[in-house]
Parts: sequence; structure tokens; C-alpha cells
Amino acid sequence: MQYISTRGTAPELNFEEAMLAGLARDGGLYVPKTLPKFDSNFITSLGHLSYEEIAFKVMKPFVGEVFEEVEFKNIIHQSYSKFVHQSKAPLRQLSDKHYLLELYHGPTLAFKDFAMQLIGQLFRTSLSKSKKRVTIIGATSGDTGSAAIEAFKGLDAVDVFILYPRGRVSEVQRRQMSTPSAINVHAISIDGDFDDCQKALKDLFNDLKFRDKVNLSGVNSINWARIMAQIVYYFSSYSSLDLGGEKVRFTVPTGNFGDIFAGYIAKKIGLPISKLIVATNQNDILHNALISGEYVRGIVNPSISPSMDIQVSSNFERALYYALKCNADEVTRLFSDFALTGNFKIQESALNNLLTHYSSGKVSEDETSETINNALKKYNVEVCPHTAIGLKVAEDNMCDEVMITLATAHPAKFFKAFESSTGKKPVMPKSLSDLFNKDERITELPNNLDQIKRVILERI
Ligand SMILES: *Cc1c(COP(=O)(O)O)cnc(C)c1O
Repeated sequence: MQYISTRGTAPELNFEEAMLAGLARDGGLYVPKTLPKFDSNFITSLGHLSYEEIAFKVMKPFVGEVFEEVEFKNIIHQSYSKFVHQSKAPLRQLSDKHYLLELYHGPTLAFKDFAMQLIGQLFRTSLSKSKKRVTIIGATSGDTGSAAIEAFKGLDAVDVFILYPRGRVSEVQRRQMSTPSAINVHAISIDGDFDDCQKALKDLFNDLKFRDKVNLSGVNSINWARIMAQIVYYFSSYSSLDLGGEKVRFTVPTGNFGDIFAGYIAKKIGLPISKLIVATNQNDILHNALISGEYVRGIVNPSISPSMDIQVSSNFERALYYALKCNADEVTRLFSDFALTGNFKIQESALNNLLTHYSSGKVSEDETSETINNALKKYNVEVCPHTAIGLKVAEDNMCDEVMITLATAHPAKFFKAFESSTGKKPVMPKSLSDLFNKDERITELPNNLDQIKRVILERI
């Protein structure tokens, strides 16, 4: 399988190269040159397999021949060995047609572990063969950073630098990033919001001299391998319901459009999905783009669902690329406009295409709290604020099709929001028990590219 850039001019790469590259050298994002196609027999046959077996079958065509079969199976097995729930991504029935897909049983209690644990193992295997070293840089609204630090800590061939917006992540998220003692991981708090962190990250990648000097690599959802790993649970959840080909809908709490884009690829390669429903908080660039056709950068307003406090949504570029029928020139034009003016207009045919796959809903702060509380009363289930946003949008969009809502993080990760919404404490998982006693190690920097570069160069 070969990968090409959404902006059309970066070199074509195989899976391993695309994974190690992260962002394409023309500023675009890598997508598969061709997509595999799974038929209904294949999907039915997944019904009785383990999560790891499904992961192997779904991801194999995307990885191609880069890893040997046994090696890849082993990597998958290692990746999910730290998940505390036996089925890794269990489905919980909420009502007749509504299910919650629990994606928070990994080591850092958010869905990011599904992809990051796998990427950690893939990097480890790949770099031990090539004897290369890489510098990983990540921008995070909280969960990507903790998942990346957990996946890469102690790995010899990798230095990890995570940029997060100071004061805008939850205490658990911050501590998960700042307390690991491994010397190859570095939590850097930036004086800015998530968009500033993601902009700094992209600028570091686009400085080709710096990029080559430190052998830069990225594990944000700009990295195709992240998307690939997340396709798996769309298949595992669907096939566990034994629906005989019936179409379903997924509601996905969204910020950077990564998780929901994985659902789009699942649909494109054969999973019977009728709609993917974008659920956003008050930072609603995606909801606005889908209802108005105008993609307009706004100001990030901090919310109680901080992992979605994003106004420039990286993976929307991939969605647009497909909506524009793979017209890389047009994608390049739109994003050049966006860099200059902070907005662009999606042409009508592309918008109509997007609307055949996606719809959207936006949830206020009050509604989020109310839904956390309602979920406890109505379904006896504890949800995090991001999941609550998904639940609210899903409930507003119920029809006679099965709805699966993605539960993206454990409520304990956002216990303050949970407590203020319900007056109760969430169940605290074991993995958090000593987090509050450990020393923190954080580098504080202004939102300044030269200073970020200097710290990276000093530490690698
Ligand atoms: C990252 C994250 C999201 C948003 O996911 P994207 O794929 O980046 O849109 C939602 N909820 C939680 C808990 C997250 O960590």
C-alpha cells in the first residue's frame, strides 16, 4: 500500500515511511493511494473474533508487506495488553437502539491509547531494525500527550516533546504527562491555546532544515497510523451486534476530526454506516462548516471538555480531500487561503458530498453538565464531558437505525466536571491511585518557535 499527500506534491511513501514522517513535506496529510474493500461476508466473519484478531484483519491491507505477518500480530498483541477490559472496546446498551462504545479502558483512560499504544510498538519495531533515532513532537489538548508519553516513555530510539496549552488541560491529563520519570519524555506547557500548539508543531515540520536535523516525527492524528488504528473499533463494535448488514449511525465527539474520519474510512471500505454525526462543544468550527459551508477560524473558548477545545481541525483536510474527489490542487488552494485569511468557502458539490456522510450538532456548557447528570440517572452510567456531548447529540438524532455513541474518555480523567455536574465522585480507576503523590516535571515556554526549537536541540 502506498500513501500520497492531500496536497499532491510530497513523495509517495509506503506505510512505514508515512508513519515515521507524520506530516507530508508539502504541508499536506498522507492518505492511502487506493483503499481496500471489505464485503459483507468479511464483516460477518469478524463477529466471533477477538479485538486483536479483528485489528489484524482490518489493518493488514493498510500496512502492506512492511511487517511480517507474525511480527505484526505480535505488535498488535503487545499494544492491547495494557487494556484492563477483556474486550478492549466493550459496547454498553443504553436503550433499545442506542449503544455506548467504551474506548477508555487503556492505560491513560482515553481513546487515544488505541492508536498510540500501537504506534509505540510500530515505532519500536521499525527503529530497532533501522537503528535510527527520531524526535517526536506532539501537540495536545490533553489526551494525545498523555497517551504518547505513556507509549514512548523509556524507549531508547525516541525523544518525545509534547506541547500543551498551559492551564487548559485537566489535572489528571497534566499529571499523566508530567509525572513519568523517563528522561526521553518532555512535557512543555505553552502560553497559548491548543491551536497555537498545533500551529507551532506544523511550523516545526515545515521548517525542513530543522525537520531533517532532528529527524522529526509526529504522532498527532496528522499521522495516518493513528487513523488506521481507530478504524478497527468501528468494525469490532458493528460486528459484535450481529445486525446482518443493517446500516447504523455513529455519533463521535470531535475536535480534530481524527476519530470521526476513521469512521468515514470504515464506511468507505465497506462498513454499513449511514451517517457519522459530529458532536462539538462551543468551539464549533466543524458544526459551522457543515451547516454553512464556511470554514472560519474562531477563538478557542475553554470548556469543561478541554480535549475538544480546538478551532483548526487538522483532519478536516482529509475529509475535504475526499469530498473534492481527491483534487489535491483545490485542497492546496483552500488551505493556502486559510493560512492567509483564516477562512475559506467549501464549494457546493463538495459540501453536498460531505453532507451525505456527516451531520452535526453542538452542545453548550450547561447542556453538557445536564447530560452528565442525566446519563447517571437515566442509564446509570458515568460519562466524561466529551462523551456527554456525544450522548446529547446522539439523543437529538435518534431514528429507527441503531446508534453507536463513542465514549472517548473515562469520567475520572475529568473528575471536577463530573463532580460539579452530579455532586458525586466518579469511580477512580486503579491506574490513578498514586498519580497525585508523584513529582511533576514541566518545561514552561512562551508561544515562540525559536525557544521551542532551542529546548528540543538542547535535550536530544
Ligand atoms: C481527542 C479527544 C476527542 C476528539 O477527538 P478527535 O479525533 O481529535 O476529534 C474527544 N474526546 C476526548 C476525550 C479526546 O481525548
